[in-house]
Amino acid sequence: MSSGVSDPNKIFPPLPNSENPVNVERWLAAIVESSDDAILGMALSGVITSWNAAATRIFGYEPHEALGQPVSLLAWPGEEERIDLFLAILRHGGRVDHTEVSRKHKNGKKILVALSLSPIVDSNGTIIGIAKIARDITERTEAASALEDSRIRLAEQQANARAEMLAERKFRELIENAPDAILQVDQAGAIVIANCTAEKMFCYTREELIGLNVDQLVPEANRAAHPTHRKTLATAGKSRPMGLGLDLFAQRKDGTQFPVEISLSPMNTEAGVHVTAVIRDVTDRKLTEQRVRSLQESYMTELQARHKEAERLNQLKSEFMASISHELRTPLHTIIGFAELMQEEGEGPLNSRQRRFMEHIHVDSEHLLGLINDVLDLSRIEAGGLQLHTEPVRLILIVAESIAAIRLYAESRSVSIRMGSEIDFNVLADPMRLRQILYNLLSNGAKFTQPGGEVHVEAAVEGNNVRITVSDTGLGIAPEERTQIFEKFYQVGLTPVGVREGTGLGLAICKQLVEMQKGTIWVESELGKGSKFHFTLPHNQT
Ligand code: ADP
Repeated sequence: MSSGVSDPNKIFPPLPNSENPVNVERWLAAIVESSDDAILGMALSGVITSWNAAATRIFGYEPHEALGQPVSLLAWPGEEERIDLFLAILRHGGRVDHTEVSRKHKNGKKILVALSLSPIVDSNGTIIGIAKIARDITERTEAASALEDSRIRLAEQQANARAEMLAERKFRELIENAPDAILQVDQAGAIVIANCTAEKMFCYTREELIGLNVDQLVPEANRAAHPTHRKTLATAGKSRPMGLGLDLFAQRKDGTQFPVEISLSPMNTEAGVHVTAVIRDVTDRKLTEQRVRSLQESYMTELQARHKEAERLNQLKSEFMASISHELRTPLHTIIGFAELMQEEGEGPLNSRQRRFMEHIHVDSEHLLGLINDVLDLSRIEAGGLQLHTEPVRLILIVAESIAAIRLYAESRSVSIRMGSEIDFNVLADPMRLRQILYNLLSNGAKFTQPGGEVHVEAAVEGNNVRITVSDTGLGIAPEERTQIFEKFYQVGLTPVGVREGTGLGLAICKQLVEMQKGTIWVESELGKGSKFHFTLPHNQT
């Protein structure tokens, strides 16, 4: 059925009763009319020349609407050029077989047809027209695409299901192999989910765990209270660690116990509130903690013992120093006393060399005595043996006495000493020790100041204290030395006259004495310009 209708005899083999050609033509026309496919005849120009019932059904046009119209009447927008191409092929004796194309129904809807075109040739072999058979494949295509869609959907669903399965498997593996035991417990306390770690941790098989009441995993001593705790958590509905601040234990199947940390999360399910418990065996951590603690304890004990021993040795040293200093002072006083007597020449005149020798003996003995006195003081302070006699003291008197005591020394170095006008305050102090502090600071001032320089004492009230300042115009102290100079035996350098005088104990003693009288001492200084030593004492306002 691939030929046109113009000359059926040319196309079909002779029929059995071919002696009756009229019947054949009718018979053929009947076949064309009853065909399910649209069968059209066209002139070579493309004008429609015949139109069967199926064509009307497929394209919507009645024969009188279609006949005489160009076939482009049926073209779907954009397909016109293709129609021209087909016509050209046919004109040149070619054919178009089973090509799927889009066509337009009279109502404007798109229809898909499978097209076959063949030339109609007359008895001379001349192409006189075109036969076109169009089969409506719209439904078939739609059905195929619906089928394809559902096939894709199915494949997608399968892929999703597979992905879900994989994700679930991964999740399951993750849960199974989690380092913590994971249990889910229903409202009655029965275990509904248990992971592999839970089996190992509690030494039950999974079958034993599922359905077991979770209270069985709680040590017997705490078991009775557990159901109440469970109910409280389920009602509160919030995740929380269990037994915060407590040392929790869990119990294995064999009754042995181990330390745990547990976090609980309630979850609403169709079967009521389920609680997921994540349980961590902290045995190793506890052991490590215990080891660290006992190490710490033994370290502390040893440290305390060493500290005690060091204190004892220090005390012994201070006692020894105190007693030896005491023993040294007595003969020194004898030496100084006799040296002074000799210098007075009461026992007969000395020649100039003897006088010089005696002067050396006297000066060095005095120096030695000063050193011994300092060592004795510091040892006494450190051994806790120095008692202070604190009382209300008129500062101005002590300052004046101290200046008087140092004046000769200062004058010998051509350093002048001045006292500020605002100095008449009452302080709470041990007068002897206050004198010692001032004497130390003043003598340092004189010692570390160039000839022509000046040492100045002043005071001011500062809150509940009186601040006393001894300033000089001397060498000054480098910033990095300013705290060290208060340490025992610390000396920065030489005096302006190029010798190292003193013991390096003076400021250490001052610091101790000031602090014992509830004060503080510090220094401000600028290298080459001078220093200001400040210390405070409680102001006695009564
Ligand atoms: P000493 O005066 O016996 O050396 P001190 O403890 O009194 O010991 O002083 C420690 C050191 O601090 C001194 O050696 C000196 O270097 C420094 N020092 C103390 N007072 C002054 C000052 N007024 N000016 C400069 N340096 C000072």
